[in-house]
Amino acid sequence: MNNPYESNSARRRFLAREERLRALSEVDRDLVRLGQIPDLSRWLEQITATGGCARPVYLTGSSATFDAVSGVMVRRYSTAEEPGERLALRCRNRRSSRCGPCSWLHQGDSWHLVHAGLAGGKGVPDVVGTHPLVFLTLTAPSFGRVHRAGRCHRQRPGTCGHGNPLGCGQVHPDSGLLVGQPLCAECYDYPGHVLWNAHAGALWKAFTDNLYHHLAAQGGVSRSRIRRVLRVSAVKVAEYQRRGVIHFHAVVRLDGPDGSAEEPPGWATVAVLMDAVRTAVAAVSLAAPASSTYGERRLRFGTQMDVHEIGSGQDSPVSADRVAAYVAKYTTKGADSAGAVDRRVTSAAEIRALRLSAHMRALVGTCWRLGAVPELAHLRLRAWAHTLGYRGHCLTKTRAYSTTYRRLRAERGEHVRGGPVSGDEITVGNWRFAGAGHRPGEALIAEGIAADLQRTREIARDHLPFGWVGGARRGRRRAGVALHTGADHGG
Ligand SMILES: [Zn+2]
Ligand SMILES: [Zn+2]
Ligand SMILES: [Zn+2]
Repeated sequence: MNNPYESNSARRRFLAREERLRALSEVDRDLVRLGQIPDLSRWLEQITATGGCARPVYLTGSSATFDAVSGVMVRRYSTAEEPGERLALRCRNRRSSRCGPCSWLHQGDSWHLVHAGLAGGKGVPDVVGTHPLVFLTLTAPSFGRVHRAGRCHRQRPGTCGHGNPLGCGQVHPDSGLLVGQPLCAECYDYPGHVLWNAHAGALWKAFTDNLYHHLAAQGGVSRSRIRRVLRVSAVKVAEYQRRGVIHFHAVVRLDGPDGSAEEPPGWATVAVLMDAVRTAVAAVSLAAPASSTYGERRLRFGTQMDVHEIGSGQDSPVSADRVAAYVAKYTTKGADSAGAVDRRVTSAAEIRALRLSAHMRALVGTCWRLGAVPELAHLRLRAWAHTLGYRGHCLTKTRAYSTTYRRLRAERGEHVRGGPVSGDEITVGNWRFAGAGHRPGEALIAEGIAADLQRTREIARDHLPFGWVGGARRGRRRAGVALHTGADHGG
């Protein structure tokens, strides 16, 4: 730009432009700024490469790749030539409340992870599809009546000890604000609810131990020998019900003792597995640490449970595709999907100030309160108040079940620049964190890019053969992420 003060007319033009810019909204001002950067197209390329990530991480630095044998440099990359001398990378957050595009990718990886364990592929032998396979849903017991979607609890004469009606009689829409809220908050067993979430992982572990024992009984094998005869491989995902309690959806598969490539013994059929699952769930019972605050508690699974055989055909109501899609959907959701918080809380005052329903506030508050009870210190309830006491991962699997997220990400080529690195090359990099997130105008453009990519994927999914769905700009990459949602049973 010319020196704005070289003449009176130039100065007036400059000042008028500043005036106009000041009159714009923050977003528009940012868009004007973006429009003026010389390497805008390269910036757009970067943001497209992140899939329109909502909160990219910026790095600055360089890397060099050498031939491992000759030591000759094969390629070199530096951010010196990039816009703002930095490179945008995906945030890779799995939760849809934080980043839509990255959580979508994570959901795709989850689909592959679950599906490979059901039908093979991604390094898992295809024979797993012939092993006994079941899909199950384990719920928590009741901690007090809550409003439910559809026809709620019917009206009944009388009230509880707190003067609240015993029924409701209304029909609530699925997304109704009352759904999941207790009929009487004073009757509701908040400590029991929080203790259950906090022990959900231990309950699952007790279930799988029981499952081995119950399978041993069915097969006439001793408990000490059963793990030398067969192996239970499983993947499970934790979902929050509207009342804020965890429940599990899981795939359980029987393998031979050495894992997925090996058949289980002939007597270990689907029918035997389904029986053993039912009795093993019913037998789970753990004692919560006793405390004068709430007395003694025994923790069990709820009586509502579902076990289905996973069919091999595409048309099966519980097919591999559907189960994979169903499980994958929940891997992008946290406690915030049930109306709780999506980040840690640090004080009781903060809990009072949060925008939450009364029920969620009571649950987070109960975690905070029980977090001070010495007998429960190991549960770290204050650190996990935002997840309503549950400390587990969203998705967990046994080692032999399937491939790993790490491998799936590596296959997608998601690393800092330079294409797939072969075993014969060594890359040395030097990177520094250079910021994160978008300015308002940038966020708007990233959202647009993410929406475009989504549209491209939808067109590809509907019009191209199965497996060929992915980003159009990077033709080399085979994304192969096809989600078949709609198997929305259970819950
Ligand atoms: Zn992201
Ligand atoms: Zn109701
Ligand atoms: Zn009551």
